[in-house]
Amino acid sequence: MDRKPVHVAMFSGGAASAYVAYQMVQAHGKENCILFFTNTLWEDEDNYRFMEEVADYIGIEITERIDGRTPEEVFYDYKFLGNSRLAKCSEELKVYQTVTFLEELRDNDNLEPILYFGIGPHESHRADNLREFYSHRPIEPIETRFPMIETFREDIDAKGIIQNEWGIKLPRMYELGFSHANCGGRCVRGGFGHYAQLYKVWPNRYKEQEEMEENFRKHFEKNVSILKKDGKPYTLKEYRERMDREGIEKFLNEPDDTVPCVCSFS
Ligand code: SF4
Repeated sequence: MDRKPVHVAMFSGGAASAYVAYQMVQAHGKENCILFFTNTLWEDEDNYRFMEEVADYIGIEITERIDGRTPEEVFYDYKFLGNSRLAKCSEELKVYQTVTFLEELRDNDNLEPILYFGIGPHESHRADNLREFYSHRPIEPIETRFPMIETFREDIDAKGIIQNEWGIKLPRMYELGFSHANCGGRCVRGGFGHYAQLYKVWPNRYKEQEEMEENFRKHFEKNVSILKKDGKPYTLKEYRERMDREGIEKFLNEPDDTVPCVCSFS
């Protein structure tokens, strides 16, 4: 029997994913749509506020999946500290949760999911990666849609629309200067610029992350780190001490060649 399509917005706490979710529901009706969120337990609290307000505005509840572990707990389970090249937290807490949810829609409800991402034209390489991923990874391929790239004719100012037309304040992480709002600024895929921003805005949260890294290093007696410099480990402690010595400002604009993973749907 043919499965009935269900439209699933990959909702992340970002403005673009909120805008795409709204358009998706307008086009296909609430009863055929799902607002999907995977919670890593490291999210910034204001992200939850934003997501709930958006869900209210759209008139549809958030469907949330939680593994129950934090990224840190995943690192301990794998005895591997996540970094820009390999982040098991993303695979376990986001990707696995998503793929099993999608398979359940097929197996339990006889629905055929179509996924919507809020990725914009400037990040089309990420759209390509996701397209490729979902064409192989689940048991059968899953259709992916990127309305910000494929459908809308002009550049959409999602942030402006959400603030000015919907009357919803954006997640505070935007105005604090973070390039993405995942995992409360603690993303292990963030690079030097990202961590400088974290230290400037929330020094305590930076120190929590530094402590996590130090504890991990001691526990497993391994010289590992989230950041790498010249291909070698470079700890958050070393980086903080350098920022303290030389001033944070010059590090804020360090280009981050690391890409936020599938965790970041914008
Ligand atoms: S946003 Fe970063 S830290 Fe959080 S789950 Fe994804 S890769 Fe891990």
